[in-house]
Amino acid sequence: MKSIKFIFGILSFLLIGQSGLRAQYANQEQADKLNYTVEQAYETVQVKPVKGKKVKNVILMIGDGMGLTQISMAWVANQGKLNVDNFPYTGLARTYAGNKLITDSGAAGTAMATGQKTRYHSVGVDMDGNPLTSLTDLAHEKGLGTGVVVTCGLTDATPAAFCSNHADREQLEAIAAGYLNCNVDFIFGGGRTDFNKRSDERDLLKEMEERGYQLADSWADVEDYKGEKLFAVVDDGQLPLAKERGDVWQKAALKAIDELSKHKKGFFAMLEGSRIDDCGHWNDVPALMGEIFDFDQTIGKVLEWAEKDGETLVVVLADHETGGLTLLDGSIEAGQVEGHFSTGGHSGIVIPVFAYGPGASEFSGTYENTDVFRKIAELLKLQ
Ligand SMILES: [Zn+2]
Repeated sequence: MKSIKFIFGILSFLLIGQSGLRAQYANQEQADKLNYTVEQAYETVQVKPVKGKKVKNVILMIGDGMGLTQISMAWVANQGKLNVDNFPYTGLARTYAGNKLITDSGAAGTAMATGQKTRYHSVGVDMDGNPLTSLTDLAHEKGLGTGVVVTCGLTDATPAAFCSNHADREQLEAIAAGYLNCNVDFIFGGGRTDFNKRSDERDLLKEMEERGYQLADSWADVEDYKGEKLFAVVDDGQLPLAKERGDVWQKAALKAIDELSKHKKGFFAMLEGSRIDDCGHWNDVPALMGEIFDFDQTIGKVLEWAEKDGETLVVVLADHETGGLTLLDGSIEAGQVEGHFSTGGHSGIVIPVFAYGPGASEFSGTYENTDVFRKIAELLKLQ
């Protein structure tokens, strides 16, 4: 009798459990997009704090749309470890735009690149549309090497905020033309058609070459690169998602650092995990985990480089959160997570900032995203 009750109990648990699960999701496709279990968790690095005080180089790593939940979720999914765990200093930054509470990558990127809040959808210009000087411009003026390495198109908002100027981020051809006047030595990303399949029929790739850039259209070209200035546009649009992309962005980021470190006065590099944001817009947890893992694995390699170097400040942050994501359930042991999104757009919460290396303590506390510019400019003595 007892065993019959027991079996009945298990059966009803399974049935209710199953129907409960079905009720929770509109369909299997939605359930698949909100749940993720890791296949093979990756090992993380452990770096020691640096002792020196001199800030020679700054590596700014932006996870586009990477809020605190995205990081917490990736930590669970990677069975309780991330390279982000290494950072001794953390802070929170407010992201609102100059004319709107919920920002976009244009206004947020501009705030970090130039120290000024601007209009939603503006890149590298002030509230009135006037061009602003960015960290890459200032670093270049001081004789530092500069680099921008992203997984999106180079005309996309975040790289555009560091390399170009326009009141409307949608004007991709005009933003592409802005690269001709940028002060960046090592450029890597996608968005080729904005440079060479244009309504004005100009070939900006050729024009970049005339300005002293070595061109590259694949990782193989980048790997072999030994010049002074590189313009690598490796895809017509964005780079593919991490699953298909493999470790090409990781390698490009490390190559940029190796090349830029040849500058005797130091360097400033902006490395963006651009496609974290797309996965938030799609409300797709598995794709999101793939992007954050790629970003975090790159963080591990960058930290190991910075530990050896001893004069490099590494700052990891987001420009804004995407998806209004929450972590509802999961298992650290199984590397399993269940998420819930509250929007297909961005949210307005503060974003986490992680800092390692000389000057890192400056990034503790709560501040404006524009202060990220100010802190970096001060530490590198750019102003
Ligand atoms: Zn977005």
